Amino acid sequence: MRIVVLVKYVPDINAERKLADCRVVRDPAEGTLNELDENALEAALRIVEALPDDEREAAEVVALTVAPAEGDIALRKSFQMGVDRGVRVSDAAIAGSDYFGTTAALAAAVRRLEAEGPVDLVVTGMAALDGLGSVVPALLAAELGRPALTFAKQVSVADGSLEISRVTDEATETLTAPLPAVLSVADTANTPRFPNFKLIMAARTKQIEAWSAADIGLDPATTGEAAARTETTVAAPRPEKPEVELVQDKGEGGKALAEYLIRNELV
Ligand SMILES: Cc1cc2nc3c(=O)[nH]c(=O)nc-3n(C[C@H](O)[C@H](O)[C@H](O)COP(=O)(O)OP(=O)(O)OC[C@H]3O[C@@H](n4cnc5c(N)ncnc54)[C@H](O)[C@@H]3O)c2cc1C
Repeated sequence: MRIVVLVKYVPDINAERKLADCRVVRDPAEGTLNELDENALEAALRIVEALPDDEREAAEVVALTVAPAEGDIALRKSFQMGVDRGVRVSDAAIAGSDYFGTTAALAAAVRRLEAEGPVDLVVTGMAALDGLGSVVPALLAAELGRPALTFAKQVSVADGSLEISRVTDEATETLTAPLPAVLSVADTANTPRFPNFKLIMAARTKQIEAWSAADIGLDPATTGEAAARTETTVAAPRPEKPEVELVQDKGEGGKALAEYLIRNELV
């Protein structure tokens, strides 16, 4: 069993976000592993841990990121959780890519990994906390010609097939697909493990494989700003929150509240 987990390097959501030329300013000191990708890592590691002994020994979990060099932070965190390999794809030709360009780079990297041996499963988080598109898993599945099972709450793999359950507003669905497949994991699927001391120490020195666009046979015409099918025309910081207005209830609180709602056009 070979599993590739997509891990994205994102600005820390707790840090102050800055914009320049309609792009998020990515301060290397403030970037981190997309928190939702920890659920993807946990799901992949659990799939491997559930395998019979001999298959588990032969299994490989590869963390893959498309990011500048700072993206290694996401890969080191993935090593700490227990993945075997870390691959980063970086290239000036990829900068400014939209969803399609990013997916083209990820797909090319998966194909390069497939050239070494079959990749049974690509596992992703349910969204990147910066882009919040939730589109990469489905786009990637289409690009690779694989089934996509998305927003999984429960995951199991048996006899060459993937089964998930997911919860919608109306129902709990159970879906199956043959491997190889693309799986996206909901944040409710599991509780990501805390890295143990041994893995933290080992993660410091583990080799990260850095691949360029040429290394993965990526057609430069499919990525980068020039290939983007969407353009961000305006990006403005969110306005400051207005000061809180305390409405004192001195017997006429209801009236004061109604007046406040009408004055602020909230009804
Ligand atoms: C016009 C335009 C220009 C852009 N320019 C830039 C830019 O210059 N620099 C920049 O960083 N972003 C840029 N972006 C944003 C970038 O295209 C998206 O962040 C990217 O396509 C992924 O989409 P998402 O963040 O919505 O991921 P989602 O679809 O929400 O991600 C779902 C899952 O896919 C996986 N995933 C997504 N992206 C990656 C990745 N890069 N590596 C590994 N796994 C991943 C993760 O597992 C994640 O949980 C641009 C977007 C547009 C529209």
